[in-house]
Amino acid sequence: MTEGDESVDSRRSPGLVCAHHHLYSALARGMPAPPKDPTTFMQVLEQVWWRLDRALDPDMIEWSAKLGALEALEAGCTAIIDHHESPNAIEGSLSVIAAACTEVGVRSNCSYGITDRHGSEGATRGLEENRRFLSEGGRGMVGVHAAFTCTEDTLNAAAELASDQGVGVHIHVAEGRDDIEAADRIRGLSRDDWLIVHGVHLEDDHGISGTIVHNPRSNMNNSVGYARPTRFANSVALGTDGIGADMLDEFRVAFVKSREHDISSTPDLAWSWLETGWTLFPEARTDRVTWSYATMEPWHLAYTTAVSAVDVDIDGQPALRDGVATRVDAQEIRSKAAEQAQRLFKVLESTA
Ligand SMILES: [Zn+2]
Repeated sequence: MTEGDESVDSRRSPGLVCAHHHLYSALARGMPAPPKDPTTFMQVLEQVWWRLDRALDPDMIEWSAKLGALEALEAGCTAIIDHHESPNAIEGSLSVIAAACTEVGVRSNCSYGITDRHGSEGATRGLEENRRFLSEGGRGMVGVHAAFTCTEDTLNAAAELASDQGVGVHIHVAEGRDDIEAADRIRGLSRDDWLIVHGVHLEDDHGISGTIVHNPRSNMNNSVGYARPTRFANSVALGTDGIGADMLDEFRVAFVKSREHDISSTPDLAWSWLETGWTLFPEARTDRVTWSYATMEPWHLAYTTAVSAVDVDIDGQPALRDGVATRVDAQEIRSKAAEQAQRLFKVLESTA
């Protein structure tokens, strides 16, 4: 190998994995302020996210997914594990999201977050969307919003469907104190292939099986506390909880948050959480990203901001060249997504 080849190799990595995303939140930026300023995490859910998800229709879902997938690709993230909710547009929503990701070239794993917030009929429709998507060969998991918005019957039905389909359950757990009973309610149902998202308020020895997905920026944004992931026996992966899919950036935040908590924490720890993504989405390991920075190593990247993806090959085929998406028109996606965002904002203003 020549010296030139070595320098190229040190600029390369496999495709990064976002282990917890909400692609529908791509249109939320700039949304109208809620009628009242939220003062608790529950109020943030009620006044921001649950109003937003009720307003989504298939066109908004499609263009938010394309924009989110495009932004992932541009950040060297080639695999997204998505968690979706759109209570007034449930049927077919997971296929819309999966198709949007495929068009951009990014791999996806989709789930519909079922909940009894909209009655048992809403929970059943969500469950059926997971069943339909998985039965038709879609790559996904069974989504559950969170234990605190679900009945026992709903939690049991989700676990049973996941088991029947040979996949795990993707569920928010103890993100806020309102969900503190989650551990007792899902401990007996959980399996190693479950994704346990957040876990901020779990006991150290919570006894739930699965991978914990840590979303440090989102946790800070919602002021829910620090999950301190090193205290868990579970493996830990990194997600963004819908705030983009720039996993190098999320790694930096994860590192500096762990360092704030413990000065002996190293970049290798947060990097190991990023690497868990390849256990969850092994194909991303075969994807190839060439970066703008010469040394793609944890101790460099923890202190080097604004490293960008130059070229991305997914499944052996080009998807990004010189920072520009090759399979889709990025400008068209941005402009169509902006139109859909305006439609969404109008609906939110009319339901304030
Ligand atoms: Zn989430």
